[in-house]
Amino acid sequence: MNHDSVDITIIGAGPTGLFALFYAGMRGVRAQILDALPEIGGQLTALYPEKYIFDVGGYRQVLAKNLVRELAEQAFQFGAPSHLNQNVIALEEADGGFVLATETDRFPTRAVVIAGGLGAFFPRRLPQKGTDEWYGRGVYDRVVDPTQFRSQKIVIIGGGDSAFDWAHQLRDVATEITLVHRSDRFRAHASTVAEVLAACPPAGRTTLLPFHELQEILAEGDTLRGVRVRDVKEKTTRDIEADSVLPMLGFHSELGALKDWGLSFEGSDIAVNSRMETGRTGIWAAGDITTYPGKLKLIATGFGEAAAAVNQAVHWIYPEKKVAPGHSSNMAIFGQKDD
Ligand SMILES: Cc1cc2nc3c(=O)[nH]c(=O)nc-3n(C[C@H](O)[C@H](O)[C@H](O)COP(=O)(O)OP(=O)(O)OC[C@H]3O[C@@H](n4cnc5c(N)ncnc54)[C@H](O)[C@@H]3O)c2cc1C
Repeated sequence: MNHDSVDITIIGAGPTGLFALFYAGMRGVRAQILDALPEIGGQLTALYPEKYIFDVGGYRQVLAKNLVRELAEQAFQFGAPSHLNQNVIALEEADGGFVLATETDRFPTRAVVIAGGLGAFFPRRLPQKGTDEWYGRGVYDRVVDPTQFRSQKIVIIGGGDSAFDWAHQLRDVATEITLVHRSDRFRAHASTVAEVLAACPPAGRTTLLPFHELQEILAEGDTLRGVRVRDVKEKTTRDIEADSVLPMLGFHSELGALKDWGLSFEGSDIAVNSRMETGRTGIWAAGDITTYPGKLKLIATGFGEAAAAVNQAVHWIYPEKKVAPGHSSNMAIFGQKDD
């Protein structure tokens, strides 16, 4: 599908990209945002939606998913579209601007702001043969709505933050939780591990199975019934009844084609200057994907960088528009009296 041309296309709908989209709208230019994932929010949605964040301005504490909701409300107020499930794999120059291409769509644009974080990231799949077909039908590698697992027996596979976070968060939703990990070394935060251990018998309904790994999915016809796990020390197997299996094996990310776009790179980060310029005219970058002396990879920093990148891009496209946006508190676009 060929989309209409816009002024600024933002690659990445994490917190940085969402704030960049807001800023573009506030400056009165046409913008859109693309993301490889099916949902907005970047790392906050994919990796830690239920964690509290304590170091974003204006919030004493805020759940990651709630911060995304608030960012979205601000970002989409001017009607800019988001295009999800769109992994940008190519950049072409055309008509004094660019065309960003995904596997299915083409997005013409005057300028680009890359807010790609760690790169396009995808959940690690279960490596066991025959498990692929169960994704979405009993095997879920992300939890969008915890109530989906109400009154279910669930098996969580993994030893990191997501596995333990969900074992903890779902303990009052599911009837039984079994956490399967191939060793007894857990990468999760010690306090979460302690909470999960506290929910094991006799106090709770969670079972922790270290030194076990998934062997196969057990099914009756089209219905997932459980899993067979293998004790890696004893070399024995056991079957566990389950309604859902949640592999929490982390994400792998890939910069992919961005590496070939003629941008300045330092390792896997885009090296930018104080204007968030990338080394290629018409392309700016902001957020976790960027580096410069003193760089901090934080949500708060990404916001400032997004504002800098978008204001530079706006001035480049429309030289009559100043880089400095003025104060939003005086802007007619928000119904205020213009300076
Ligand atoms: C467990 C955890 C806890 C954290 N806690 C905090 C905290 O308390 N405070 C804090 O400030 N920070 C925290 N962080 C870090 C914070 O989440 C990041 O700094 C922030 O997400 C960076 O935002 P971003 O928008 O730059 O990138 P991301 O959130 O990584 O978003 C980038 C988006 O770009 C998309 N993308 C990339 N390449 C492409 C492509 N080619 N095509 C289409 N889409 C693409 C990705 O799919 C992704 O959605 C935490 C991180 C983790 C993992």
